[in-house]
Amino acid sequence: MVIEWLAGKVIACGVSMVESIVGQSEQSRSPVLEIQDLAKHFPVRGGFLSRVSANVYAVDGVSFSIQAGETLGLVGESGCGKSTVGKTVLRLLDPTAGRVILNGEDITKVPRESLREQRRQMQIVFQDPYSSLNPRMPSGKIVGEPLENYGLKSGKAKDEAVVALFERVGLRAEQAAKYPHEFSGGQRQRLGIARALALNPDLIVADEPVSALDVSVQAQVINLLMDLQRELNLAYLFISHDLAVVEHISHRIAVMYLGKIVELTDKRSLFEAPQHPYTEALLSAVPVPDPTQKRDRIILRGDVPSPMNPPPGCTFHTRCPYVEDICRVEVPPLQEVRPSHYAACHLREAISS
Ligand code: SF4
Repeated sequence: MVIEWLAGKVIACGVSMVESIVGQSEQSRSPVLEIQDLAKHFPVRGGFLSRVSANVYAVDGVSFSIQAGETLGLVGESGCGKSTVGKTVLRLLDPTAGRVILNGEDITKVPRESLREQRRQMQIVFQDPYSSLNPRMPSGKIVGEPLENYGLKSGKAKDEAVVALFERVGLRAEQAAKYPHEFSGGQRQRLGIARALALNPDLIVADEPVSALDVSVQAQVINLLMDLQRELNLAYLFISHDLAVVEHISHRIAVMYLGKIVELTDKRSLFEAPQHPYTEALLSAVPVPDPTQKRDRIILRGDVPSPMNPPPGCTFHTRCPYVEDICRVEVPPLQEVRPSHYAACHLREAISS
């Protein structure tokens, strides 16, 4: 069914999803989102005059791009900076340095109050839909609110668009009268997705969108997101700590550690031939569905260091089982180590040979 509110959006039926996405230099189409050397540092103030005494280096020199119809998974342990990347992309936080380019437009310096049109093009789906939905509003009003705010639809046309959105995410039209607390967790996440879709965005930042859900419901929501991507050619930045979930939905995966990307490639290369010791360790903890296959678990020593005082050289050196002297002094660049496979490790060749 062709739905009126979807007019203008190219339905990508019959077009296969991006199978293998290559690095920025090889992209033939302009990406929906491109971030270049993005940094977000939070000043820590203290003392009598509240002077800046330190910085939290939450994101430090992150670059990637996402095409229409593509999902980039952003993974890493809690506190690695992945959610800060998402918020900075959406300009909920102002970057300290670097550029955010949305549909070819550098939005880094656009004042927040002038970002109205750009905000229409990019939407967010939160981890906890309940706290992002107004508990005193009927769900139909919540989903239709962006249409009214942007002056796109009102009255009967808006009601019809809301019904179409409900049905599109697997909810029933009559549920529009219910309040958020009357829905299950999975249904609330569907509401959050419907609201995100209302403005017909090009990019959705999904920040741990299924972490709070039961496993069976997780699969339903992931499948819904994948169906929507196929139909609407959406670009997703999918942020998660769960590699198994990210493997299912992503085309490419970026692994973050202490504010930096340490590995970036398509999901098959990442899972079959990881090129960074941190990725190796993360993958060793992913359960294998075949009980006859055993994976040796790599246990990392110690905790993630504080982003206020990241270690010199390779920031992973305090936990890396392969560490050598060079790792403690020189920052390894993120470089192409195999076709379209990027990793930041001085000793990659020695480790993989
Ligand atoms: Fe480990 Fe050194 Fe590679 Fe860092 S550069 S991941 S410390 S081997």
